Amino acid sequence: MVDFSRTYDVLVIGGGNAALCAAVTAREAGASVLLLEHAPKPMRGGNSRHTRNFRAMHEAPTNVLTEAYPEDEYWDDLRRVTGGATDEPLARMTIRASANVTPWMMQCGVRFQPSLTGTLSLSRTNSFFLGGGKALVNAYFATAERLGVDILYDAEARSLTLDDGFVREIGVVSKGFPETVRARCVVAASGGFQANLDWMRQYWGDAVDNFVIRGTPYAKGGVLKNLLDQGAMPVGDPTQFHAVALDARAPKFDGGIVTRLDSVPFSIVVNRNGARFYDEGEDVWPKRYAIWGRLIAGEAGQIAYSICDAKAFSLFMPSVFPAVRADTVGELATRLGLDPTTLQDTVAQYNAAVQPGNFDGGKLDDCRTANLEPPKSHWARRIDEPPFYGYPLRPGITFTYLGLKVNEQARVIMQDGRPSANLFASGEIMAGNILGRGYLAGFGMTIGTVFGRIAGAEAARHARN
Ligand SMILES: Cc1cc2nc3c(=O)[nH]c(=O)nc-3n(C[C@H](O)[C@H](O)[C@H](O)COP(=O)(O)OP(=O)(O)OC[C@H]3O[C@@H](n4cnc5c(N)ncnc54)[C@H](O)[C@@H]3O)c2cc1C
Repeated sequence: MVDFSRTYDVLVIGGGNAALCAAVTAREAGASVLLLEHAPKPMRGGNSRHTRNFRAMHEAPTNVLTEAYPEDEYWDDLRRVTGGATDEPLARMTIRASANVTPWMMQCGVRFQPSLTGTLSLSRTNSFFLGGGKALVNAYFATAERLGVDILYDAEARSLTLDDGFVREIGVVSKGFPETVRARCVVAASGGFQANLDWMRQYWGDAVDNFVIRGTPYAKGGVLKNLLDQGAMPVGDPTQFHAVALDARAPKFDGGIVTRLDSVPFSIVVNRNGARFYDEGEDVWPKRYAIWGRLIAGEAGQIAYSICDAKAFSLFMPSVFPAVRADTVGELATRLGLDPTTLQDTVAQYNAAVQPGNFDGGKLDDCRTANLEPPKSHWARRIDEPPFYGYPLRPGITFTYLGLKVNEQARVIMQDGRPSANLFASGEIMAGNILGRGYLAGFGMTIGTVFGRIAGAEAARHARN
């Protein structure tokens, strides 16, 4: 039972990785802590409960990571994917800190498993959570409870009263009832705004009705919007998001990792008019999987279809929804709702353009098309061996990039350039400081863990001084 007349040292808004890291760290530093999670208890944990790994710098092999992944290589990877849309001092600080957080995570009950290779080839760079993000989130909640963090579920922070960058009080709706919370410091860790379709509609129009949100329906960006409206400095491009090709039959929200499809490099992908629109074999899948959501978002009706034959079918991760299957390309088109003649023509033109080569699904091989627009640059083989398979694809939105500007103490920066006296941010809500564009698999959890720890420690220190 939470006493709303009490003034907490630290209020943490959110119930995902970034919030939990902040809450546990602040409590360990001796602060009284209240954590508000908008979701009810069975749905707690935000997008973090869907995760599997985080990206960790290391100078030598560890018990769960192979070889080495030094700071400069990590930084170089980040610089490349963001095209420079990052903050080097903050990024390097995060990278360096990623080398040292594992013991603390384990102390909180997080367990790791030997790294997995899978379709994204991450065994050297990423530590995998045993039991996935759900187990991680459960371990942090258990630790928070054991340490005496007060936790309120079904509690939405609606409005923070900011006075010259200082948070005075926080309006909350708790189990449907309005309440006011007072705290000396606040950590905003409420994720992105990808589940707020009306906000997304401002940039994407009615296309959003065809987007699928891969994670929590509670990431609506209410706190982000509230703070931006009151003079917090924005960071990141509001139109940018991380999006993958998802099975179109996935639920609108919370389908998680299993609804992603990795069939693209071994297929051709056509739009609803039966035409190809992008090079499916441009580069290795770990470097291309995150562009396909946006590509599909740009096609009419935000739908596409991945088409392959029997010899390609076993080359990618099995799908959670069975493939649509047929003995001829024309019949497959009919089953997918496409015009049979057009799809037959597209496949015939593609087949005619395929050049002889030595197929190797594990590297950039020499199997390509000639005189075809768009080309297929690798893994191009004729689609001619029945049965034929197809998957309908939608843009699967992982998270948005617009966030709050912060400094190295995780303090929120106001539009006049001054840091807030008592407002901190961690996780997706500030990830745009470091990840302004593109994506590096596992970096979301790294940012949330590192900045959650910093925000929790700084908020506790400030509150208790
Ligand atoms: C399917 C999927 C797989 C992913 N896999 C990985 C991976 O393996 N590795 C990786 O690094 N990243 C991965 N990501 C990205 C990763 O989930 C995020 O980077 C990370 O979880 C963000 O953590 P967070 O705590 O900032 O946000 P979230 O985990 O989304 O938490 C936000 C929390 O805030 C709460 N909240 C929102 N608004 C309010 C409010 N007004 N009041 C109170 N509470 C509120 C929500 O209920 C939620 O608990 C994945 C994402 C998805 C969708």
